Amino acid sequence: MFANVGEISSFVICPRLCYFRMRDRIKPNELHAVRELYLSRRKGFDEGWAFERFTQMFGNSEVFGKAKEKFVFDSSLQLLKPIDWEVRLACERIKLKGILDELVEFRDRKYPLVLSLRSPTEGVWFKDRIRVTAFCMLLKSRGLECDRGFVYHCFDGNVRSVEVGRREKYYVLKLVERVLMLKKGFFPEKRESKACEKCEYREVCDSKPSTFASKFL
Ligand code: SF4
Repeated sequence: MFANVGEISSFVICPRLCYFRMRDRIKPNELHAVRELYLSRRKGFDEGWAFERFTQMFGNSEVFGKAKEKFVFDSSLQLLKPIDWEVRLACERIKLKGILDELVEFRDRKYPLVLSLRSPTEGVWFKDRIRVTAFCMLLKSRGLECDRGFVYHCFDGNVRSVEVGRREKYYVLKLVERVLMLKKGFFPEKRESKACEKCEYREVCDSKPSTFASKFL
C-alpha cells in the first residue's frame, strides 16, 4: 500500500478532507486547470491544447475559464530549464508515490518543481514545502540527490525556492503513516479551520457518521 503526494498534502490541510477525497471521485479544481495551462505553455503548446487535455479528463467545466483569467506565465521561468513533465515516481521503501509536475534544471543541477495557486507573503505554504520534500525523497530513490526544489505560483507568477532538511523529511514519513491509517479505515476527527469555509465536504462533514457510510462506502 502506498500513500501519494497529493494525499499527504490534503492531510496537511485537514485529515478528514484527505479521508473524504481518497474515497470520492476527483472533482475538477483550479489547480487541475492551471496545471494544464502551465504544462502546455512550457511544452510549446497553446491554451486550446490545455483546454482539450482538461476537458478530456474532467469534462467541460467552468473552472477552466475562471483559472485561465487568473493564470500568469512569468518570464522568470526562463531561468529554470524544463527537463521532463508529469514524472511518475514511486518508492516502495518509504511507501510513497506521486506525479511530479516538472523536473527542471538550474545551474547544472536538477530539481523538482510543483505548482500552486497564490503565494503567501513570504516563502511557501507548508503543504507545498511538504510536496517539494516528498518529491526530493522520491527523486533520491531514483538516484537523483536534491536538497531543494521550486514552487511556481500560477496566479501571481512567483517562483520560490524551498530548502529541504531532515525535519521536513521526517514529517513526510509521519504523514505517510497517517495517510495509510486512513486507507485502512481510520476515521479522523473534524478539524475546524479556515479551510472549512470553502470545503466541498462541509455538509457531509457536519452530518452524522451514518451518512459517511452511505456516501463513500
Ligand atoms: S469541513 Fe472542515 S473539518 Fe470537515 S473535512 Fe472540510 S476542512 Fe475538514
